[in-house]
Amino acid sequence: MHLTHKIALRPTAAQVDYFVRACGTARRVWNWALDEWVKQHAAGGKPNAMALKKQFNAIKYDLYPWLKDIHRDAHAQPFAHLGKAWSTFFADIKAGRRAHEPRFKKKGRCRDSFYVANDKFSLDGKQIRLPKIGAVAMTEALHFEGKVLGATVSRSAERWFVAIQVDVPEHQALRPRAGHGVVGVDLGIKAAAITSAGDAFEAPRPLKAALRRLKIRSRRLSRQLEAAKAAAGFAPGARLPKGTRLPVSNNRRKSTATLARLHHRIANIRVDFTHKLTTKLCRENQAVVIEDLNVKGMLANDRLSRAISDVGFGLFRQQMAYKAQRYGVRLVVADRWYPSSRLCSACGWKNEALTLKDREWTCADCGTRHDRDFNAACNLKRLATETALPVARPSGNGGATAGEVPAVAGKVTPVRDECGQQGASGQEERREYLCSPF
Ligand SMILES: [Zn+2]
Repeated sequence: MHLTHKIALRPTAAQVDYFVRACGTARRVWNWALDEWVKQHAAGGKPNAMALKKQFNAIKYDLYPWLKDIHRDAHAQPFAHLGKAWSTFFADIKAGRRAHEPRFKKKGRCRDSFYVANDKFSLDGKQIRLPKIGAVAMTEALHFEGKVLGATVSRSAERWFVAIQVDVPEHQALRPRAGHGVVGVDLGIKAAAITSAGDAFEAPRPLKAALRRLKIRSRRLSRQLEAAKAAAGFAPGARLPKGTRLPVSNNRRKSTATLARLHHRIANIRVDFTHKLTTKLCRENQAVVIEDLNVKGMLANDRLSRAISDVGFGLFRQQMAYKAQRYGVRLVVADRWYPSSRLCSACGWKNEALTLKDREWTCADCGTRHDRDFNAACNLKRLATETALPVARPSGNGGATAGEVPAVAGKVTPVRDECGQQGASGQEERREYLCSPF
């Protein structure tokens, strides 16, 4: 299985200078290749990545003389990426999924990155030796053992990172430490997650504070933008004509950088929190049951969206999928229509009148008083025990079935994706995750 470990770098000023130029190279080559691709296609040709690369190699030093200073991987890889992007696009169209064509990369708009092939760099503890610039300090050493496949250097919020892809052998998959439990996990609104064992996990406090700051900073930036528009003679709230460039004040530039840093920090807190949660769940249990939440649909609901995106549901699901595989934990994904909140976990009666506002309710059949989220977690746990033992399902569960996943070592755990298809085949198998161990 392929895992990616993303590590922050501590480059020198000269190294940063090289990174910037290498990213610029990768971006320009991508744009050149995409432009050429579109042209050839429009002219009735059948462009492909290999041919385009050959074509580029013949003229590259005339086109961009400074290319000699940049390692070739940075300008060779965009062709492979572009080829892949097109085949993904056509596969998506064929499968009726939402697809978007490869786009041109804009300076400063896209995430800057460049690639280094696995035979062109070496690792030595907290150091990575890259072509052309030598050893760069990393904040931590690579955690995974296995065949190193490649590395991508990228920038986000003015910091530099290297993402190292490693093929980790299956037999190295971690075993659960001591856990024999079966647990249902409900991703809640009040607590970030609640388990059928009664543990509640709160979203980290720094996240709330950071989100509050985010609101203030965003407002400040949009005020500065409005001021710049007014100074340029546009009416308040007017849409700028395409291609208009407003002068950027120092303060606006600073605000933009601060906001980017804040977004980055929020993302970090979320990733850290979900990593700790998912690792704990996998270490302590033999089977974990989660909900198949329609994240997109829920985000469309205004009232819920804040709480849900705070927890990072999509992130949770993604991490559970690959960690279950690594730890040899059986991951059961409940059908999206399984009414985990509405069923009484004691007798199986279905509360049709339950609304989102009801945090607690009493079963009309057996009289048990339920905490909404805890009850849901208990119902989810049921799915794992039921499918393990052929016990009758609770009555009135809407005819839903559990998306049951047997734990077969060495197999990609199929997880239902957004469209309700099995995500274990085709494009979906390309699994790259950002990992850090806890
Ligand atoms: Zn009941």
